[in-house]
Amino acid sequence: MTRRRVLHNPDPELREISRPLSVAEITSDDMRALVADMKETMKLENGVGLAAPQINQKIRLIVAQTPRGVKGYFNPVITKRSEKLVDSEEGCLSVPGIFGVVKRHKAITVSVLNEKGEEEIIKTGGLLSVIFQHEIDHLDGVLFIDRAHSLHELTKEKEESIL
Ligand code: ZN
Repeated sequence: MTRRRVLHNPDPELREISRPLSVAEITSDDMRALVADMKETMKLENGVGLAAPQINQKIRLIVAQTPRGVKGYFNPVITKRSEKLVDSEEGCLSVPGIFGVVKRHKAITVSVLNEKGEEEIIKTGGLLSVIFQHEIDHLDGVLFIDRAHSLHELTKEKEESIL
């Protein structure tokens, strides 16, 4: 596994739209290695989520901390969103030292392909719901600072919510 360099705002590469992947690509050895690198990078950077464009790969792949460990998800699409919104305190590995409050849907349903290229439907609330919304934004070139209000600098106790 190799730690990959994480791009930082305002790198224009972070603003590109990423492309979906085929099942053949998802199940290739190269992709398995990339997913392993992303998981390693996310852990070493103390994040709870990482999107492929953050390491300059314009593909629809994210890794996320879940109750069942760190997982890779391909081509994630949000198919349902609760009307209820929550205030989410967020940071981002690509925007070091800055935090802000973002309005997110409290609960969502996401359609993904898992690391075996199989379709999964994930219904989630709480932190994983926020991670998906934040990481899917990255796949569309959107950063949380575009949506956040009350941006502020890092304080120690909030380091764990970096996405
Ligand atoms: Zn981020």
